[in-house]
Amino acid sequence: MSQGFVTGTYIIAGLLFIMALAGLSTQKTAGRGNVYGIVGMAIALVATIFGPNEGGLTFIAIAMAIGAVIGIFMALKVEITQMPQLIALLHSFVGLAAVLVGFNSFFGYQALGPAEKAAMLAGGMVTVHLVEVFIGSFIGAVTLTGSIVAFGKLQGLFSSKPLVLPHKNKLNLLAIIISIILLAVFLQQGGLFWPLLLMTIIALLFGWHLVASIGGADMPVVISMLNSYSGWAAAAAGFMLDNDLLIITGALVGSSGAILSSIMCKAMNRSFFNVIAGGFGTDGSSVTEEAGDMGEYKEISAEDVAEKLKDAESVIITPGYGMAVAQAQYTVAEIVRKLKKNGTKVRFGIHPVAGRLPGHMNVLLAEAKVPYDIVLEMDEINDDFADTDVVLVIGANDTVNPAALEDPHSPIAGMPVLEVWKAREVIIFKRSMNTGYAGVQNPLFFKDNAWMLFGDAKKSVESIDKAL
Ligand code: NDP
Repeated sequence: MSQGFVTGTYIIAGLLFIMALAGLSTQKTAGRGNVYGIVGMAIALVATIFGPNEGGLTFIAIAMAIGAVIGIFMALKVEITQMPQLIALLHSFVGLAAVLVGFNSFFGYQALGPAEKAAMLAGGMVTVHLVEVFIGSFIGAVTLTGSIVAFGKLQGLFSSKPLVLPHKNKLNLLAIIISIILLAVFLQQGGLFWPLLLMTIIALLFGWHLVASIGGADMPVVISMLNSYSGWAAAAAGFMLDNDLLIITGALVGSSGAILSSIMCKAMNRSFFNVIAGGFGTDGSSVTEEAGDMGEYKEISAEDVAEKLKDAESVIITPGYGMAVAQAQYTVAEIVRKLKKNGTKVRFGIHPVAGRLPGHMNVLLAEAKVPYDIVLEMDEINDDFADTDVVLVIGANDTVNPAALEDPHSPIAGMPVLEVWKAREVIIFKRSMNTGYAGVQNPLFFKDNAWMLFGDAKKSVESIDKAL
């Protein structure tokens, strides 16, 4: 394939990626969006493999075969609830790739003959190239370790509690200042290896510290932020490799990740800077309160819940991470069908950070063929709880925690939540009195109008379905 042909196919692939993003913005068009993305990526791969490249096809084929085997194995093995950690891990690969490309570009330039170097110098390209190498390696290294820590936190390998080092913000600032000084040294010396290596080590530590110092409840922002970083890392790699499509794709991922981060921050009522500075859940307030401090809670049986549902005129279901773990969405959808047949008004209230991925609950409900028009966002439904007979809180905890609004010292203070306690009765489906992801006890469970239905959410909804 000629370079001109490759450039043409890259433009088509770039357009398909933009159409994919547009498609993914609504549930109805998401399937189509995915198809555009897959076709775009297939075109991009074919053009890159068969376009002009120096290394020949053998190495590409070997690398792709290894990658494909690992990818297929992981995709088949991973549980849907483990998707967030898989995504975090994949982001770390993008970071690693950017670092490797950076180092490779650096050594590639060093290996040039004197005549080629002189030509680059004359064209003023050396500084541009070195800046690309330096910044690309920096972003890549931050993304690499940041994503590994995010993976560890989501997988439960590391504590979800924030790491609080003394003067942590000053440490971050110091890392950035030293990196800028190293960049100046690197450029003045016309590309010395040691400033690049030292900066990469500092950036690896910086990425690790940045994510480790963020509290559990802020993880949604961290995930979307790393998503954005991985895009910028890919774009930086695109500059170093002179690959236009990688630049376009990286910029698309980077900017859409940044928009998602801003949406997540708004959903959690946090400023982006606060999250990065580790302000959320790090004020030293007690994170796990004893359930005993909060009073008595009441239990209810699945059969009694079914009776309440039969009598209710309006029902709202607020699902959370536990519904995903239990895979209860299919039976929940079945219960909804029965209630609707009975003339009950049933809707879902979805918190923007419910579950462990942006849009997690929407995906599960779409999987179970719940009609989109009864799936409402928090802002659309929050005023309706007061007029609702029964709320079913299925495996949600932090997203329905009144402490966010009532207790200014709570680590989740200020985060908007689904105000389920305003309904006439609230049933909470969970297995124990354990806290949610943010590690905060929930006063909802002890309210007069609240009942706990203990057990695996799938078993509980199956018993209710049977009783209905
Ligand atoms: P939470 O994590 O707050 O609570 C989930 C609850 O589900 C737990 O209290 C658990 O209680 C219960 N549960 C777990 N398994 C089961 C099961 N099999 N059957 C019944 N119940 C079960 O969930 P939310 O969705 O309310 O909140 C999401 C949290 O995750 C927020 O803190 C958010 O910030 C964070 N987060 C969100 C991300 C996102 O992008 N959406 C990303 C990363 C973090 P028990 O153990 O007693 O059963």
